[in-house]
Amino acid sequence: MIKLWKVAVIEGDGIGPEVISSTVKVINALNETYKLSIELEFLEAGLGAYKKYGTNLPKQSQDKLFGADCVLKGPTTSLEGFGTELGVPVKIRKMFNLYANIRPFKPLPRASSLVNLDALIVRENSEGSYSGLEYRVSDQIALGIRVTTRSAAEKIFKVAFGMAEKRKKKVTLAHKANVLKATDGLYKEVFLNQARQYPEVLAEEAHIDALAHWLILRPESYDVIVAENLYGDIISDEAAALVGGLGLAASANLGDKYAMFEPVHGSAPDIAGKGIANPVAAILSFKMMLEWMGYPEAAHALESAINQTLAEGKKLTPDMGGSGKTEDIGNEVISNLPK
Ligand code: ATP
Repeated sequence: MIKLWKVAVIEGDGIGPEVISSTVKVINALNETYKLSIELEFLEAGLGAYKKYGTNLPKQSQDKLFGADCVLKGPTTSLEGFGTELGVPVKIRKMFNLYANIRPFKPLPRASSLVNLDALIVRENSEGSYSGLEYRVSDQIALGIRVTTRSAAEKIFKVAFGMAEKRKKKVTLAHKANVLKATDGLYKEVFLNQARQYPEVLAEEAHIDALAHWLILRPESYDVIVAENLYGDIISDEAAALVGGLGLAASANLGDKYAMFEPVHGSAPDIAGKGIANPVAAILSFKMMLEWMGYPEAAHALESAINQTLAEGKKLTPDMGGSGKTEDIGNEVISNLPK
């Protein structure tokens, strides 16, 4: 029997509804052409939900998440300020233990790439500097606890080495064990131990600050980069800028049984409501979902259609130097899908 994939869809805030609407049109077109078995279930989450229900992820939305196999998520705006509730992506990562954040970066046609980078960043998503253990001790002092566990390190390195085996067989660990001797020291120890199980993969380590520098000057020396939560977050934005901007950067948050796919960018309030956001990051995130579901043919077709759309450059969005609209890109991608 063919599995019916139930996908929870969060449109999100700011440019979220715009980029997700284009992505949903692409999903519907692919569903028809490639006879995929994907059913979408929309739910409310984010700042809009917070204003309506007093929480960014109300109970009815949580129920829909539990009833789905995975999530397609648009960007959601998080409240700032100590004591405010966790952001939606953090809540969902915790609910389903989505410990691996995967972000591919590669040259795309007409993208204003600064360097020739073709790398995959594997970011640990469940602990490290983003463990959520922060305290205001007094008006003058705040403390944060950074958590590194051997089990989480082993799991993320397994993902990184597994992905490197299918790519150029090289993994670089980004760390700062010379300063953070207990936490990053444990990370490095586990990494070097685990590397012995993958003799065909070259395992390297680099201090995160040096890596940020060499990523620009020697991008070709990287393939898979694995990093703790905060480092991974920062170098992902650097990598996105290097390959053409946040409008093109996709991501997957993977657990053992559940997954969430989302563009790397935020809600971009500066361009929200104008219909000019680039939907490619969101559409490429859906492509990653197709691979995860086991639809390699449809994923390949979608990637070709995106590449063709960008290469032809008929209606690119302003971030890529054009004057096209969000929906134009989605429609072009659909018309370029191999029949
Ligand atoms: P948030 O607080 O939700 O993270 P932000 O504005 O701090 O929002 P981003 O939304 O990631 O951060 O946007 C950073 C910049 O990148 C913005 O100036 C925005 O115009 C640009 N940008 C982000 N996403 C896109 C996109 N899909 N298309 C075009 N430009 C984008």
